Amino acid sequence: MPDKCHKADCWFKGPPFLRSKEPLGKSHISETIEDSEICSEVKVNYNEISYNDKNSTTQQPGLMLLLERYSKFERLISSVIWLQRFKTYTYMIGKLLHRSDSPVTGCFTVAERENATIDIVKLIQTDSLSADLCYFKDMMSSGPPPSDRKRLKSPFAKELLQCNRYVVCRVGGRLRQFELQPDHRNPAILPPYHHATKLLIDTVHCEHGHCGSNQVQAYLLQKYWILHLQSAVAKVLRECMPCKIRSARPGKQWMSDMPAVRLCAGNRPFFHSFVDYFGLIKVKLGRSERKRYGVIFTCLSTRAIHLEVAESLDTSAFLQAFFRFVSRRARPAHMYSDNGTNFIAGSKALKDEITN
Ligand SMILES: [Zn+2]
Repeated sequence: MPDKCHKADCWFKGPPFLRSKEPLGKSHISETIEDSEICSEVKVNYNEISYNDKNSTTQQPGLMLLLERYSKFERLISSVIWLQRFKTYTYMIGKLLHRSDSPVTGCFTVAERENATIDIVKLIQTDSLSADLCYFKDMMSSGPPPSDRKRLKSPFAKELLQCNRYVVCRVGGRLRQFELQPDHRNPAILPPYHHATKLLIDTVHCEHGHCGSNQVQAYLLQKYWILHLQSAVAKVLRECMPCKIRSARPGKQWMSDMPAVRLCAGNRPFFHSFVDYFGLIKVKLGRSERKRYGVIFTCLSTRAIHLEVAESLDTSAFLQAFFRFVSRRARPAHMYSDNGTNFIAGSKALKDEITN
């Protein structure tokens, strides 16, 4: 087996159709692969491609599926760059691969990102505006009059008639004398509701701090001419989850009716009272530091308050504070509190004393 390895050119370099510029086809696979093991593997891949081809009306189904595959434009660009690098790799296999300036390794360059973006725009246009692009290709080759708009199938025929380049369909205009970047002067036309267009709008929206519709449109118009721009941007912004969360109204709490004791008029203060503890409060006693707690008595009718100090959290400290409160403000008709153990035990002690 090892002595046959050096002859297995297909194993080390891959099938020749990968290095070919011609589009992938059945003839390339069946004619060039002779190894039975590799052939069986490649046949599986070929079956997948042919399956996709049946379900798609476009000429490049694999690439069109790539546009629908990602949920972020950044990831789509990355995948296209890796595909371009793989293409470069197949051309220059065995050369410059381990150098630091190799074009198929390292971080993505600005040029690679721009090329990938242009390729994505071309794919979107091929996917959505293929009928009109074919018309323009025919028009450029045979030269029918541009006023023949009946052949145009797209509802955006008017804009497409202004395109000046077939490679990337761009908007025309009268700014040729103005010194602007080509993208600004002739922005690329994009369909409004294509998945990749939505990703592009979403990226611009997120990169600029989830800005509003007008601002997103202004940024997009610097490079792209998205048809029905306003509604396309509005649709993407409506589905943006961070914006939804930020603009959501806070929930309102349903308040119950006030209890009857809060509404008793004509009684003296602290006739119906509530008691609770607060603290801990550290106090100086001589040269030592002691713990003390505040006891707050509130009148449920007038909201007046009476404060006492408790030396601890036990029952006797609470009863002492309560007796001081009663001595000052008179005995309340009802006392309310939470289920603190000192309150429950104090209540029980008072009831026992009264019963006895
Ligand atoms: Zn947002």
